[in-house]
Amino acid sequence: MNSPNPKAINGSILNRAVLVLNANYIPLAVCTAKRAICLSVLDKVDILVNYDSKVHSPSVSLPLPSIVKVKEFIHYNSLNVEISRKNIILRDNHICQYCGTKKGPITVDHIMPKVRGGKDTWDNLITACQPCNQKKGDRTPDEIGMHLLKQPKKPSRIHYYQQYVNTLQSDWKPYLFMESFN
Ligand SMILES: [Zn+2]
Repeated sequence: MNSPNPKAINGSILNRAVLVLNANYIPLAVCTAKRAICLSVLDKVDILVNYDSKVHSPSVSLPLPSIVKVKEFIHYNSLNVEISRKNIILRDNHICQYCGTKKGPITVDHIMPKVRGGKDTWDNLITACQPCNQKKGDRTPDEIGMHLLKQPKKPSRIHYYQQYVNTLQSDWKPYLFMESFN
């Protein structure tokens, strides 16, 4: 299942983000409410939590789903996030990992430079502002006395889904390990 862009979940309530849980309650995907309603009509998911809003059609009025759970367990490496420029920037929250700025165009920097054998891996790629990236050049942070704000590591999908949570999605928090169940 493809996830909607976190920045594009507004607009029609049918595009509202819905958290999809696997049969064992582990987060599996985020989809649109429209898709969740289709899956529910097809009897593929159970609706666990609804938003306060309703969806109206000429004949029926339905609660808008917020969290659904698939009926049959899906074997899928749900915690894997593909490595890409976009996902590195998302993981680092658009923050330069050397100086902490959020300003200006952001670049993706290889900690161990590519020309010196640095790989395209989660622990070797970070976001950096242009001045820091230029200053660092083909050296390692140690060689130039630059320090990383935090040690980069592979993110989980849970971390990615947490970005969808705002005031309307407070019910999602326990499932995304942001707070405990009451
Ligand atoms: Zn910087």
